[in-house]
Amino acid sequence: TGREKSHAKNVSGRGVKKEPVSISKDNGLFAANKPNCTKAIDVISKSIELCKICFVEISKDNRHFCNQSSITENVVVKIESLPEKTQDRILHKLFASKAKMSSSSPTLFNVGMTLRTEGRNARVILNPKRENPIHFSEDKLDNFVTNTGMSLIQMNTVTNFIRATAGKRSIPSYYRDHASKKAKILEDVYQCADDYFDIEKLPEKEKRSVVFAEAETLLDSVLQSREQHGGIVIKLMADGVPNIKETYDNVKLLCDLTKLNNIPFKFVSDYKLLLIALGQQTATSMYPCPFCFITLDVMRSGEVGEKVPCFDEGASAQLKISSECLKLKTFGDIRESYNASFVRELKKVYPSTGLSNTLKVHVLLEHLEHGLHFLNGNSLGVFSEQAGESVHREFLKYWAKYQVNNLESENYSIQLRKAVVEFSSRHL
Ligand SMILES: [Zn+2]
Ligand SMILES: [Zn+2]
Ligand SMILES: [Zn+2]
Repeated sequence: TGREKSHAKNVSGRGVKKEPVSISKDNGLFAANKPNCTKAIDVISKSIELCKICFVEISKDNRHFCNQSSITENVVVKIESLPEKTQDRILHKLFASKAKMSSSSPTLFNVGMTLRTEGRNARVILNPKRENPIHFSEDKLDNFVTNTGMSLIQMNTVTNFIRATAGKRSIPSYYRDHASKKAKILEDVYQCADDYFDIEKLPEKEKRSVVFAEAETLLDSVLQSREQHGGIVIKLMADGVPNIKETYDNVKLLCDLTKLNNIPFKFVSDYKLLLIALGQQTATSMYPCPFCFITLDVMRSGEVGEKVPCFDEGASAQLKISSECLKLKTFGDIRESYNASFVRELKKVYPSTGLSNTLKVHVLLEHLEHGLHFLNGNSLGVFSEQAGESVHREFLKYWAKYQVNNLESENYSIQLRKAVVEFSSRHL
């Protein structure tokens, strides 16, 4: 009753300020007596009528308009008069039942909802998820260093910057030690030697530095550091040392140094190197195929393929083939279970295209089908040399850090070895 008569409200505006009257036993107002509940209900039920919606007293003097804003006002006043703990429970119940409408998760974890309030809508998130602090794991940072080919000093600047901006914990402690150890994991594996190689445009062999690892030792230490089984890519590279020719002697020398035959391996290369390794000559020599004894003349005339009369001729046949090839997308799609009907179709159509029979076409038509049996469940992608070729570009990033231009320099092999060690260690 005190509130209804605005005795407890601060009155603002013009005029004499009325002192708020606080309700006590002395000024005779009933509500301050804190009577026990049953009695109070007795008294109330006899004397006053309440609005069914907002529980506010209705009397002849107090004409009650029950509209949206007065309901809100009146109910809030009611709730605020309750003990704080009860208020919290009421609020939680209301939020929870609203949250259940907008989310199917039973835990009500991180549920967002919109309250249609006066003016701009309010957005509430119940039990919000804690923002994850920024953290870079050692692996992530290692990958970054590996991909950029950054030096440890440069990387130190980067980590210091991140620590300063995103907090001390964003970078693992002792990352610097970890990184410098990581770059030297294969330190003991690689050796230096000088050997005689075939060089471009020189009739005689010449001495060149070579950095290598024995295949078995390399495989062991790689598997040890990865703590798993698997394979490695051993790349025979002529990067860093200029003008090395692709010849049988050179390839043999590298295979001997690395003792490649001590481990099982797949030989992945382009046709040029494959022919060299087999002791054959080029793809335009008398016997150009690495897989059979066909002669160049027979291969070019295309007499091996069974000639079937075909309605498509010339350009339209070429179009048919290219559309068929596009369906394959990648070599990854060609597996052991691959239905060889594509190759058989191609064999029939190819002669009508009028295109020449190159070594690649010959291998595709005559040998691919048989080769698929040796994939052991892998796709033809394992024989793709594209991945191997990207190693060159990657290595040059590292070589650029250590590069020595003078081949005669004593430092040359030392620096070359450093580049190889860091490159390989980082790419474990
Ligand atoms: Zn009660
Ligand atoms: Zn009402
Ligand atoms: Zn062949």
